[in-house]
Amino acid sequence: MAQTDVICAALIDAAGLLCDDCVAARTGLGSDTIQEICGGLEARKLIRRRFAGCVGCGRFRVSNQMLSPDSVESAPAKPDAAVEVPSAVIPPSSPAMPIAPAGALHLVSCVAAKGPTPAPAKDLYVSPWFVKARAYIESRRAPWRILSAKHGLLDPETVIAPYDETLLAMGAAERRRWADGVLVHLAPLAEQYGTVCMLAGNRYREILMPELRRLFRQVDVPMETLRIGEQMAWLAREANTQCASF
Ligand SMILES: [Zn+2]
Repeated sequence: MAQTDVICAALIDAAGLLCDDCVAARTGLGSDTIQEICGGLEARKLIRRRFAGCVGCGRFRVSNQMLSPDSVESAPAKPDAAVEVPSAVIPPSSPAMPIAPAGALHLVSCVAAKGPTPAPAKDLYVSPWFVKARAYIESRRAPWRILSAKHGLLDPETVIAPYDETLLAMGAAERRRWADGVLVHLAPLAEQYGTVCMLAGNRYREILMPELRRLFRQVDVPMETLRIGEQMAWLAREANTQCASF
């Protein structure tokens, strides 16, 4: 059986919504394969992917539902056109770094460098990168949240104590649990803001992006292709541009 058929059989068998992990467990396929194939099936209107309770594990996350099981075999095999191209294959030289609308919800990853005493989250993180990211967002007067390895989704004003957790030290299962916690709190914000702008490192993006693309109408990653030094320069330049326009 083709992988597509194996996935469809699992979804039909579940007779409800099944998250990617449960599809993986039932099919033996990797989660990347499942995301890619399910994305294609969704584009062909054969399944629906949405944030909901999974009948397999009961967790609230992106889950797949078969819409028209009868049409699977007769549907034309149109593999590549409908499948979303992973952003990683977009050449890094794209000159224009699109700027997310100022009304977009901006997500910033936490950093290791922290002040010594409890403080509002926006003040606790003190690395030069974080300070520049905050200045950029504040210059745009954009709504934002911090992605914290310890606290999940954090309001910048929430007072927290210094801590040592990092996503880099978490295993895959722990990162998955972390992402589930973040996504539960992001779902209502997705309805409110529509667009999300990720100012976050790879580790945060790799686990959140597929589900952010389901939750939000638009997902912007303006600094995706930039190295850390280039990111700092970009943030400083754009913050100045924004300040100058007020
Ligand atoms: Zn599940």
